[in-house]
Amino acid sequence: MRVRYEGGILVQEALKEVILDPARKTPGSIVSHGHMDHLTSGEVRRGGTGQPLPYGKEIDLNGFRVVLKDAGHVFGSAMVRVDDLLYTGDFNPEGGATCGRAQPEFVRDLIVDATYGRPGYNFPPKHDVESDLLNWLEMELANGPVALGGYEFGKSQELIALVNRLGVEVAVSDKIADLADLYGPYGVNLRYRRLSELEEGEHRDPRAYVLPPGWLRPPLDDSVSWLGSIGLKTAYVSGWCAFFDYTGRYGLDAQFPLSDHGDFEDVMTFIEACRPRRVYTAFSGAKDLAKAVERRLKIRAEALLTR
Ligand SMILES: [Zn+2]
Repeated sequence: MRVRYEGGILVQEALKEVILDPARKTPGSIVSHGHMDHLTSGEVRRGGTGQPLPYGKEIDLNGFRVVLKDAGHVFGSAMVRVDDLLYTGDFNPEGGATCGRAQPEFVRDLIVDATYGRPGYNFPPKHDVESDLLNWLEMELANGPVALGGYEFGKSQELIALVNRLGVEVAVSDKIADLADLYGPYGVNLRYRRLSELEEGEHRDPRAYVLPPGWLRPPLDDSVSWLGSIGLKTAYVSGWCAFFDYTGRYGLDAQFPLSDHGDFEDVMTFIEACRPRRVYTAFSGAKDLAKAVERRLKIRAEALLTR
């Protein structure tokens, strides 16, 4: 099989070809998950023409056998198996509270997510990060409301699930609620209220707000400007918190390195377990990861020049 980046991740064999995570709307292509950098201008998420494909159901596509596997990244995220090739998309071998986890499988060609592909890009154990976050939350809630900021699809719903464990009330922005509403019918039950439905007299009650990161500090949109005046304690939640200081830069109270991607060592372990003959690395850390795979695992590796 030949793999390169052209209008998406293009996989070719003889006269057959298929595009994974296409850059433009392309009939007969496959989208790995609902993050906007993998969707064609948000086409599918905005009620476009995509066809859902359940995990584990094999189909014939352009002459290839194609099957989706859980990627453990966000709700609904998939790794794509195309004959003897596996494309991980964004993935996490550790999984999360609102999705399964990515499991390695023997393949000949492996295209792997290199978001944290630079050696040393490792997170503390996920369990430790989650307990730190919940401990901090409980402590701060004794004094009033707390806000957690994270990406609107995936991270925010993961945060709702975490706070639900404490039995503490969660209020979220309408966009985060709209996305979370989709989880229930698939058996992921999240408990939350919509910010827009809170009475004014309730605003200062001790509860956890889960918000888009941009809402953690002023200037806030008029509709939610009250968030700036209720004495919120604020924390940003992202894998990048392991490497950068957001607390100081944005004047927040805390930050937690909870990621929906595997870290460098997770990814190396996953690659080794798949025993591929050839590895292609994709996304931000692609060059670093390709180098590390060749050096440490002695497997031929090539960085795909993605967007
Ligand atoms: Zn993603």
